[in-house]
Amino acid sequence: LLFMKDQHKDLNVRGAYLHMMADAAVSLGVVVAGAVILLTGWAVIDALVSLGIVAVIMIGTWGLLKDSVNLALDAAPNGVEVGQVRDAFLALPGVSAVHDLHIWGLSTTDTALTAHLVHDRPDADALLAEAQGLARSRFGVSHTTFQLESGALPDCPTC
Ligand SMILES: [Zn+2]
Repeated sequence: LLFMKDQHKDLNVRGAYLHMMADAAVSLGVVVAGAVILLTGWAVIDALVSLGIVAVIMIGTWGLLKDSVNLALDAAPNGVEVGQVRDAFLALPGVSAVHDLHIWGLSTTDTALTAHLVHDRPDADALLAEAQGLARSRFGVSHTTFQLESGALPDCPTC
């Protein structure tokens, strides 16, 4: 129960939580199967309960496996849609293009983001603060690096 409240914030906590839940399910299954065998002598219940617990564990941990592989492959973390992030930056006043947008997990709790923003604002620092605030408040990304551009750069291969 102590792990339950933080399981959505940290992959490690979720792994520990699911492990404990699986242990609890196994214990409960043993008690139920033992009681049934004691009362009826029907030993097949032991195998059936075991398979049921295996199914519950596999279904319950599939998301954990997916998120772990995402983290290992530097993919955008679950819950952060790259298209939505791009649209949100494009909606900032004065921003006309977004490119070189990369989002990846630094750890089980921290996400990093880099992007080039093409803009026509005279107050570049204010735009930077707005972009940082947007990434943090709406997408939970606190490690950001932005390149602010006033137009196509000759040395930028993707501009
Ligand atoms: Zn660029």
